[in-house]
Order: sequence, then structure tokens, then C-alpha cells
Amino acid sequence: MESYKFICIECPIGCNLTVEKNGEELTVLGNTCKRGEMYAKLEVISPKRVITTIMRTEDGKIIAVKTDKPVSKTKMFEYVEQIKSKRVKSGAKIGDVLIENIEEGANVIATSNPY
Ligand code: SF4
Repeated sequence: MESYKFICIECPIGCNLTVEKNGEELTVLGNTCKRGEMYAKLEVISPKRVITTIMRTEDGKIIAVKTDKPVSKTKMFEYVEQIKSKRVKSGAKIGDVLIENIEEGANVIATSNPY
């Protein structure tokens, strides 16, 4: 049996979670709600994170961006390179989708106006 330990990041309480993996069966201990159980299982099966970074506009300004959904943790560096290599139109504004479907169902959106 394998065992994994995490701090749940689903809410500010930060419960200490343990996942015991016995074959395909996952047992979560230490959670006080279902969200924590789901988080812990996904951390073992397919961990995901929201990417926050910056892009450049065509006229050299900076615009803050993030993915609107968590994406595969194992592909984060690849996605960051993709995001940073692209230039955004200078008229982009907060809330605009700047890259569609960087991963299935996840877009890169502007979280600031260019500055
Ligand atoms: S298990 Fe539930 S209560 Fe505990 S940190 Fe996670 S979301 Fe919050």
C-alpha cells in the first residue's frame, strides 16, 4: 500500500490529508468534508493547478493572465512557455480570453489591463 500526505488547499482551514492507495482503491483520511476528499484523490490521480503569469502586448506592455480552470500540473511549464511566447493585441482588457483551450476546456484570460 502507498501513502501520500497533503495539506488541503480547498479552503483556509488547511486540513492534513492522507491518501492510502491500495491497488486502484483510494482511501482519504483527515478530511472534514467531501471537497477535501475530492481534492486528495485528484492530487494522486491527476494533479491540477491554475497558472498565473504575465504576457506581453504587441506594444511591449505587460498584462497579467491566468487560466480560468486548473490545468495538468505535469504540463504547467509547457503551457507557461506557450503563454509567454505569444503577444497580445494592445487593445486587450481585463476578462478577455487571450488563448482558447490551452488545455481542453481551459482558457487563458486577462486579469489586468495592459500596464
Ligand atoms: S477538507 Fe474540507 S474543511 Fe478541510 S481544508 Fe479541505 S475543504 Fe477545508
